[in-house]
Formats: sequence, structure tokens, C-alpha cells
Amino acid sequence: MELLEFCQKLPKIELHAHLNGSLSPETLTVLNTPIEDIKTYQLLTKLDCIEDQLNLAFTLFKIAHNATNMIESTYLATKHVIEEFHKDNVIYLELRTTPRAEPQMTKRDYVNTIIKAIREQNLITVKLLLSINRGHCLKESEETLNLILEMHELYPDIIKGVDLSGNPNVGIFSEAMFIKARKSGLKITLHCAEVLNNEEVKQMLEFKPDRIGHGTFIHPTYGGSTENWKLCSDLRIPLECCLTSNVLCNTVQSYKEHHMCEWVENNLPFNINTDDKGVFSTTLTKEYFYAAHHLNLSKESLYNCSCIAIDSSFASEEEKLKLKTYLKEWKDKHLELF
Ligand SMILES: [Zn+2]
Repeated sequence: MELLEFCQKLPKIELHAHLNGSLSPETLTVLNTPIEDIKTYQLLTKLDCIEDQLNLAFTLFKIAHNATNMIESTYLATKHVIEEFHKDNVIYLELRTTPRAEPQMTKRDYVNTIIKAIREQNLITVKLLLSINRGHCLKESEETLNLILEMHELYPDIIKGVDLSGNPNVGIFSEAMFIKARKSGLKITLHCAEVLNNEEVKQMLEFKPDRIGHGTFIHPTYGGSTENWKLCSDLRIPLECCLTSNVLCNTVQSYKEHHMCEWVENNLPFNINTDDKGVFSTTLTKEYFYAAHHLNLSKESLYNCSCIAIDSSFASEEEKLKLKTYLKEWKDKHLELF
């Protein structure tokens, strides 16, 4: 209990959170989601069978997606997600989402609405990463990228990065698009090695992204190549870890066997995140707790994890300094908790 309380009180940094996957049942209620759908939403963590879990996760993403198909609901969803992270003592949040068009909302409307919700709150510092879905065709992805570049010019303090996400079994990593994004000053994070694909992982690592998401199959213990692991550790690219997401999607056997331990043992930079806190029924507090409990991280290590996450974030240098000062002062005031 004491450890859980520490994880709750610790000011935390969230770097890998998909907007739609982060909708809690409470947020769905506000968005007028049918009650049956909300009940379904609370089931995932209670299922034992992996195949059922995967099917249900898929259904949950659909429910969340349907709940935010209009301007007003997108605004409310963003607002509520930020408030919930704030309540969980997250002091800095990077939300990510793929610009999407719906019958009553253009991609530009969608992005503008999220930005409006971010700008109209002053609870915490929030940045937006826009995702390219690897399942989309090149033409659509290029259109999305052009919109991202335009919006980045308008809101350079909020839109900080581009992410590659989507089903890892389809599509390719199109380096040219990310080179273009990088040239306009955007940071890059890639969902990488979510499935075993050493050739693609090599391409991604050679591109030197600013961060990688998941990185499950990079270390040789999990089927990765020695060459890729060497490249990854030499470059010291920060890893975005999402423990519960990986356990529930069965890409790792258990919390204890999570590949994050390789980063811990080799003293490589990593951060702890929720991925989809609504769908996987988690919080960043719980994720810190699981990391400490299953991977034997001390309270000091959890605190350092928050500090390192600031360095790996896409905040400005000035914002990073402020966040670090805040954390340092928090520690000085709460030494009895350590
Ligand atoms: Zn993700």
C-alpha cells in the first residue's frame, strides 16, 4: 500500500498516451456512449483468455473511436483525459492521435479541436504528437503529413512531434516522410518492434528516432538481432514502456518478464507510460507501481524515471528546466516518503 501511495504522489511524466485509448468509462458517460458499451468497457482486465482479451480490446477501441466522431465530443474527450491525468499527478503529458475525418468533422477540425481543448486548460503542460497510421496508403499519409506540417507552423508550442503507429503487421516505415517532418522541426517517435521484424527495426534505428515506443522485440532474448540491440544501446534512444498494454496484448509473457528489464540492467534511458489507459483500465500510478513491484525498482529509481522522462520529452529546454525544478522541490519536501 505504501508503495502504491508513493507512486500516486510522485509527480509523473506521460509520454505515450493515445487520446482515444485513454477515454475512461467516466469520460464515455459524459460523451453519451450507450450504457451497454460502457459496461463492455469495464471487462477487459477481468478476462483470462488471451484471445478474448484481444478481441475485446479491438471492440473497445471501436467504442472509443465512435464516441469521439464529432467536434464537441472530441473537445470534451480531450478535456476529460487531461483532467484525469492531472488527478493522477501527471505534471506533463504528451497526447498522441491520428488526424481523422468523419462525416461531420474534417481532419483539420479534429486537430484544431484537440488544440483548443489543450489551450483552454491550465492544469498541466500538454503537448500533442500527431500520428501517421502505417496502415494507411502513401497518398493518405502524405496528406496527413502536410496537414501536420501546416498545423505545426500555427501551433509550434503544442504540436511537438510525429508518431508512427497502427497495426505493426501492415504497411511500412516510410523514412522519407519522417525526414520531411524532422526538417520542419518536429521530433519523431516510432512504434518499433511491436512484432518480430529485425529488418524494419534496423531501418528504424538507423533513422535515429528521438524515442521508440514499446521496442519489445529488439533485445536478442526476445528474438531481436545482436546488431540491432547494439545499435539501440549505442544510440541510447529512450524507450517508451507500456507494461499493462504489453501484458494484456500478450506481446510479453508477464510483468516480470517485460523487456524493460534489459533497459534497467544496461542503464539505458526508458520511461513508463499507459499507452491506452481507458482500454487497458490502468493509470500511470499503477504502471509505476507494477514496474516497482515486478521489476524491483526502488522509490529512488521511480523518481529518477520521472526525471529522465523529462529529458526524453519533447518539451522546450525552458519547460524541461521548470519541470525538473518542480520535481526536485517535491523531493526535498517529501523526503519522508523515500
Ligand atoms: Zn501506442
